[in-house]
Amino acid sequence: MLTKITDGEGTMEMLDEMEELCNEIKDTALCGLGQTAPNPILSTLRYFRDEYEAHILEKRCPAHVCKNLLTYSINPTKCRACSICARNCPAEAITGKPGKEVYKIDSTKCIKCGLCLSNCRFGAVERH
Ligand code: SF4
Ligand code: SF4
Repeated sequence: MLTKITDGEGTMEMLDEMEELCNEIKDTALCGLGQTAPNPILSTLRYFRDEYEAHILEKRCPAHVCKNLLTYSINPTKCRACSICARNCPAEAITGKPGKEVYKIDSTKCIKCGLCLSNCRFGAVERH
């Protein structure tokens, strides 16, 4: 269920199911390890429920961690058309003309590796 949520395929019902399952494990496990194993889920559901809901309802990862929910774009006002991002993109998802035309990302080709973000020295690549 967690994987589905991080992939943007979660439902609000899953939150209740996870909570129920965790409480069941907590109450019925015979050893201390089993009784505490569900704690990470229970405590994040309690204190960060809004983040779970953002993944499910808005298909958005507020911490910018869940790869399948991220999108990358280039801010045309910051791009200096240096071409470094395009030359290092493993998916050939970035196009533009060196020194002449600002670069753009084709989101249908992008595999969300994040290399453009780390390679751009001008802060033009944005992750949403
Ligand atoms: S690396 Fe940055 S400045 Fe250079 S072309 Fe790409 S987005 Fe533009
Ligand atoms: S995130 Fe990776 S695949 Fe997507 S445009 Fe940037 S370098 Fe290319």
